[in-house]
Amino acid sequence: MKISYSPYTLKSIQNLNALATQPERKGILLKIEWPDGLTGYSDLHPWPEFGDPSWEDQLAGIRSGHISPMLEQSIWLARRDAQCRHQDKSIFEGLPLVKNNYLVADSRSEAPDLMDMLKTEGFETVKIKIGRDLQKEAEFVSLLGRDGAFKLRLDFNALGTWQTYERFMSSVNKVALTRVQYVEDPFPFDEQAWNEAKKFAPVAIDKEFHKIDLKKMKSRPFDVVVLKPATMDVNAIVQASVIQDFKVTVTSYMDHPVGVMHALAIACELKKAHPQRILDAGCSTTRLFQMDAYSAEVVPSGPYLKRAEGKGIGFDTLLSREPWSQIKIQ
Ligand code: MG
Repeated sequence: MKISYSPYTLKSIQNLNALATQPERKGILLKIEWPDGLTGYSDLHPWPEFGDPSWEDQLAGIRSGHISPMLEQSIWLARRDAQCRHQDKSIFEGLPLVKNNYLVADSRSEAPDLMDMLKTEGFETVKIKIGRDLQKEAEFVSLLGRDGAFKLRLDFNALGTWQTYERFMSSVNKVALTRVQYVEDPFPFDEQAWNEAKKFAPVAIDKEFHKIDLKKMKSRPFDVVVLKPATMDVNAIVQASVIQDFKVTVTSYMDHPVGVMHALAIACELKKAHPQRILDAGCSTTRLFQMDAYSAEVVPSGPYLKRAEGKGIGFDTLLSREPWSQIKIQ
């Protein structure tokens, strides 16, 4: 197998979450060539703030024969792309459209006419990152939920405690509380405490997923799994969700448009196979960054992301022009 990479920088246009302070986000595109002649592309976009090793460290690992779990996912996704390219078809061929949630990364920077805009554009689900200013955010959630037009997803990124969570949820308007579709990672995972957290709203697990062992769990401390194909084993999670009856939200990793298209393709495929289980996706994250040649090809229209044209996940011409460097594998 030959692995080549091309570094990129995404420039964020606002603070992406309570931990991210760097306006520039770095990652690499990957080109993988298999001995059977197939070639596929994917993205590797680590979030060191959340414990991912840097892309430099992950590449150093390959050179010494160690493939990180994130890279394993990137290779798996590149293979899916390679198979479609080989068959001369788009990865989206025959797949249904999937709506995405609107992402409020920082409620303080949203325009006052946000609700009208969301309705006009056809959004049904809004995800709000929580953790910068809890009081202001509770007011924002109350206002958005009271309207009744949207399902709300609140993402605490496991940064708070049971106490901050309880205080926040108790201060949200009661009508708005009924519109909360789920709360993501309300605080660090604790089976009993998450079961109690469900008294306010359904709970979803995202970043805390690596801490749990589904087979050892005695109860059902969450209702939804947030599936990020960039870092998680897709088939294992879908299988567990069928057995334990979890709903699934597929999201991008706030990564490069190449990674976003991969996540969107998984969302569409799972929607076709499990229409009731798959909720609105969270793949529409390209607008968080300054537009570049890639994101210009997938500009969203309301809740729908445009699918990149071309074979596999698309971007054929742009990918062929990347200045690829091959990794020497020992
Ligand atoms: Mg999350």
